[in-house]
Amino acid sequence: MKRDLRLASLLTYLVCSSVILLTLWQVWTARDNTLSDIQTDTVNLTNALNTYTDGIFKQSELVLIGLAERVEHLEDDPRQMSRLRGVVAQQMAALPQLNAMFWYDAQGDLKFSTVTALGPMNVTDREFFTYHRDHRSWTAFIGPAIRSRATGDWVIPVSRRIDYPDGSFAGVVSVSIGLDYLLGFYKRIHVGDTGVISLTSSQGRLLLRYPFHEADIGRDLSSAPIFAQALEEQDWGTADFASRVDGMRRLYAFRKSDQYPLVTTVAVGRDEALQGWWSQTRQSMAVVLLLLGLVLVLGRRLITHINRRIGAEQALLASQGTLLELNQALEVLASQDKLTGLANRRSFDGFLDIEFKRARRTGNPLSLVLIDVDVFKRYNDHYGHLAGDECLKSISRLIEECVRRPGDRVARYGGEEIAVVLPNTDEAGARAVAETIRQTIERAGLPHLGSPFGIITVSLGVATWVAQDEPCDPSQLIELADQALYSAKAQGRNRTHTFAHPSIHAL
Ligand code: GH3
Ligand code: MG
Ligand code: MG
Repeated sequence: MKRDLRLASLLTYLVCSSVILLTLWQVWTARDNTLSDIQTDTVNLTNALNTYTDGIFKQSELVLIGLAERVEHLEDDPRQMSRLRGVVAQQMAALPQLNAMFWYDAQGDLKFSTVTALGPMNVTDREFFTYHRDHRSWTAFIGPAIRSRATGDWVIPVSRRIDYPDGSFAGVVSVSIGLDYLLGFYKRIHVGDTGVISLTSSQGRLLLRYPFHEADIGRDLSSAPIFAQALEEQDWGTADFASRVDGMRRLYAFRKSDQYPLVTTVAVGRDEALQGWWSQTRQSMAVVLLLLGLVLVLGRRLITHINRRIGAEQALLASQGTLLELNQALEVLASQDKLTGLANRRSFDGFLDIEFKRARRTGNPLSLVLIDVDVFKRYNDHYGHLAGDECLKSISRLIEECVRRPGDRVARYGGEEIAVVLPNTDEAGARAVAETIRQTIERAGLPHLGSPFGIITVSLGVATWVAQDEPCDPSQLIELADQALYSAKAQGRNRTHTFAHPSIHAL
């Protein structure tokens, strides 16, 4: 039963802990999978946006190449100028991302623009102009986002140098890409409420960020992990950090253009991205907790049930023990003489029978001593029955003191007669024991004024039986001892007579 209890506790513990471990493992795996899915999605989106942005800038560069070619070979002819305007107008209509087109001469003065009613303008202070003036290269220059002096809109200028036939600096042609156009495109992409899409120069200067805040434009992000670390090692990748712009923790995917010094970044808010996972986790946790509770309740019930059964079993054992003790006590009571505490007649009969059989089996002698208190009737008459009872008790104790061998047994045979069974004791031995008893009682000197001796005395009859003698049974042995006792009484009392089978050995 205790094993069942241990098994039930162990099972409950094992089921609970495996459910907890399994849930934790599942929650952790689900989180990993969610993060991995987010990474894949944002990297794919970043690649797509990068391709799109590259396309926008490539188109602008192609427009600039055409424009530079026309401008470099333009003669001071109003017809050619008007043709140029016509071609440019068509290009502008075909490419909605273009905000405006400009042509500046070597001094930075505006020579031509698509913006109507634009007065004289000089751009020698603009970064793109000084770059082209100082670098003999036809590669396109993508400037930082600026608010256009011509249109007042936020734009990213893309410019190209133009040369005189001798290779000297002849000015700059430029187109400006409206941030509105790019923002309109970014807006259509779903990156959540806390997501961000941004376009940055490869040095980390912010060109455009969605959601749009004017103050963010031109912000230096070179110390952010993407620019300070990740881009040093790879052209694309993912990162997880708190934004330098608003401090929010996001999961970033970035891609550096392989054609232009531009970096496209897509980021989703970490908490928002993990929200789906978290709510699913909460749901499964609730189910698991419910299951755990159920297992615990059932386990507890089972344990309580087993405990109850153990309790009932223990109570049963205890009552069984009490019953056994009671039985033993009853047995003792049933075999004991109430007054003297000696074995009673019933017990004596059983004992004598057993010893008789043993003696027959082993061939050892068996002796019986019958003791009778002398003139005891007169004791009762003189001292009263109660004193007689006390006297019988004292005599019993005295006799017990004389019988010390473990196998010997003293019993109240009846009235004021006491029997002593002496297994494995021959006639001489039995006689010696009987005589010791007689002398002990005599020496005790219990007063008995009704007796001719003045004290309590006993007469004893001894009979011994040996298996080699003629067949005999317990009642015959008693009879022989009784005869010896009778003889002792007849001879004057306070003496021991022996009857040895088959002939009487009387002292
Ligand atoms: P004898 O020497 O011949 O044995 O004489 P006796 O008086 O002892 O013999 P008898 O058999 O005539 O009397 C026995 C008496 O023992 C009778 C009875 O009053 C007394 N007696 C027997 N059993 C008890 C007992 O349990 N308590 C008391 N107080 N007396 C008992
Ligand atoms: Mg008697
Ligand atoms: Mg007597």
